Amino acid sequence: MPLLSDASRHTRRRVLHVHRFRRLGDDPFSGGSHYGCRCGVVRAGF
Ligand SMILES: [Zn+2]
Repeated sequence: MPLLSDASRHTRRRVLHVHRFRRLGDDPFSGGSHYGCRCGVVRAGF
């Protein structure tokens, strides 16, 4: 059974995905906070 079709469909879905960031924790280096989405995208807060 080809699993690639499922994977590509999942990837295509992520294009339209709207990130919902929630706080993951503090960053001791920048003094800010890390925010991450369920899809795995992480960005630094202010
Ligand atoms: Zn996301």
